[in-house]
Amino acid sequence: MDAVDAGPSRAGGGDAGPPAGAAAPSRYESQKRRDWNTFLQYLRNHKPPLVLARCSGAHVIEFLRYLDQFGKTKVHLPGCAFYGHPSPPAPCACPLRQAWGSLDALIGRLRAAYEESGGPPETNPFAARAVRIFLRDVRDSQAKARGIPYEKKKRRRAPTAPGQVHGGGESSSSAALSGDSSGSGAGEGSAVPLWGSSIS
Ligand SMILES: [Zn+2]
Repeated sequence: MDAVDAGPSRAGGGDAGPPAGAAAPSRYESQKRRDWNTFLQYLRNHKPPLVLARCSGAHVIEFLRYLDQFGKTKVHLPGCAFYGHPSPPAPCACPLRQAWGSLDALIGRLRAAYEESGGPPETNPFAARAVRIFLRDVRDSQAKARGIPYEKKKRRRAPTAPGQVHGGGESSSSAALSGDSSGSGAGEGSAVPLWGSSIS
């Protein structure tokens, strides 16, 4: 239960607030900004239209599901011969999804961005209980399907801000679309596609 702590959503350190127009923001900050813009764009394109103030955890979950189409992590279906195999010897027809680690990091960034943009913490949809439960379910089901026990990483991830990118999973900011599907699932970089303005 403590893996996805709803505690302070600010990234530890580095939050001194880069003065506008000063040096380039950190990778975390620019990723956060990009994720936030993506979410706002998603809202604008939502049918029926959605405004941020009326966003609930259910909408956030819908957004995460929507992102699966841009995923690059093979998640085996229970009927697949490779279900539970961390490194299958052959390709299969199972769908590509967003890795749990990517979604988890994304939610951390969006949760911080929401509050930094003036949203009240009490109604932060990214901190909603439903979202935490959803992420936990994704983690557990992907752990089974991919044969990867995320539990081992839990302790390492927990103390940091949920959205903070760190350690081995980190890759260049352009890795979002580079097609790495062999990662361990934690911190696999951006879950968000690099959209132009072509959602619809
Ligand atoms: Zn499969």
